[in-house]
Amino acid sequence: MQGLMQRRDLLISSILEHAARHHGAGEVVSRREDGILSRTTYAVLARRARKLATVLRELGVAPGDRVGTLGMNSDRHFELYYGISGVGAVCNTINPRLAPDDIAYIIGHAGDGIVFADPVFLPILQAIAPQLTDTLRGVVVLGEGACDLPPGMALHRYEALMDAAGEGEEWPVFDENTASALCYTSGTTGRPKGVLYSNRSTVLCAMALAAADAVGPRATDRILAVVPMFHVNAWGLPYMAPMTGASLLMPGRQLDPASLLSLMNGERATIAVGVPTIWLGLLGYLRDTGRRLETLQRIFVGGAAMPRALIAAYNELGIAVCHAWGMTESSPIVTVNAPKPGTEDLDHDALLDQRAAQGRCVFGVDVRAEGEDGNEVPWDGVSQGQLTFRGHWIASGYFRMPDQDASGWFPTGDVGVIDPHGFVTLTDRSKDLIKSGGEWISSIAIENIAVAHPHVAEAAAIAVPHEKWGERPLLIVVPRPGCAPSCEALREFYRGKLPAWSIPDSVLVVDSIPHGATGKILKAELRRLYANG
Ligand code: AMP
Repeated sequence: MQGLMQRRDLLISSILEHAARHHGAGEVVSRREDGILSRTTYAVLARRARKLATVLRELGVAPGDRVGTLGMNSDRHFELYYGISGVGAVCNTINPRLAPDDIAYIIGHAGDGIVFADPVFLPILQAIAPQLTDTLRGVVVLGEGACDLPPGMALHRYEALMDAAGEGEEWPVFDENTASALCYTSGTTGRPKGVLYSNRSTVLCAMALAAADAVGPRATDRILAVVPMFHVNAWGLPYMAPMTGASLLMPGRQLDPASLLSLMNGERATIAVGVPTIWLGLLGYLRDTGRRLETLQRIFVGGAAMPRALIAAYNELGIAVCHAWGMTESSPIVTVNAPKPGTEDLDHDALLDQRAAQGRCVFGVDVRAEGEDGNEVPWDGVSQGQLTFRGHWIASGYFRMPDQDASGWFPTGDVGVIDPHGFVTLTDRSKDLIKSGGEWISSIAIENIAVAHPHVAEAAAIAVPHEKWGERPLLIVVPRPGCAPSCEALREFYRGKLPAWSIPDSVLVVDSIPHGATGKILKAELRRLYANG
């Protein structure tokens, strides 16, 4: 027997329509390239997204077509998210910081007929356009700018197209499993692979993010989205925020601590979301200048492990830090570190240890740690395994690649332990683990301790080949300004915190550590630079 409830497809367009009707005054504030803030509302954005639907049809975009975006976080990029997915097309967000060759590969592989780009990224498109004449027929610049394109490829101005378009119509209704967005993830080997989200997976993931023990914003919250819109749909924030009515603050390209602080204080941010590197840089700036975060209450962090010391430092400023874990293939939310009953009595240190874990599963996804035999290892906080997950917003394969997910459990490449309360702690990426004398050493554990040292700003640990032990950990540190930590002092700092055999034998002090486009430390690059002495 079927239930007697209305059946409505879970469509992305319905999120913005809800926001326009029930939270019409909710704001999206964006920092433009010239530094000026532009301010708009969900009511206006919904109207513009419907106009954009008309523009897309006039540009020849049909349901199922892929449309590229090369843009930073802004209200216009937000409109593109809704306009493109709203007409049943696929919004292919492209990371502009990738090598031009990879960007060309992505546009070609996705088959983007049109790419919308911030003016500052036009030179990239001009350089690669000659390779894309079979695919790309037009570029739309999101502002003022020009570039030379090959014959047959048109350059349009976004606002001119929007001005010329009539008021949009109602959103079309289609099957909720229709693809909505495509995000390429850059592995360390091989070409980027496309993760193809659906309307349904996106709406469900946004609902999970909106739960109280996840991000759980109120309509009165103001959320700074530092995580870029070309990376896993900005972790779902552009869907979750309008769903709840919370306002969104978009930093554009100005991601330096001074610009972020002025945006947060000036716009009364209550929640901020981004990778640890951002919070590390901001903390240093606060310490150096004596400035304060005036309204911020909560930071959500993921993408890389947030060191315990950094969590503690923000807690001392009265700001709660919530660790979350996921990946492009998981839309991205899988675990969030929200307290459970039974942890209230933990002492300060034990509580901080738990806050540094990656967290527990939200409803809609499940995780397991698998031993080498493929069986689940116990939830004892010690048994380590390869983490796999499954759920409503987990990829089942990659765009235009043979099916990979036969078991139904997606292999993450992350290694971790799960404690009796279900809290996952990542110990490493499988390829970043260090194997010394047959024992696994966690590079994350080494790094987390190093950044707690008062003279260390940033740290990375990698495996270096060793005649006797196979591999040994090398610690690479960037000192805090004016500090020069010695190898002996750092090694001494590890005593009692790690078993003696897993303490790094050598320390390399460097001016900077390379980061990828999303702010993560490029371990592969460090191995290339330093692993062979
Ligand atoms: P991406 O697909 O680029 O978002 O990268 C996903 C990977 O980032 C995961 O597989 C993890 O290795 C890493 N990652 C994400 N969140 C965390 C976290 N909270 N702690 C440690 N590593 C993380």
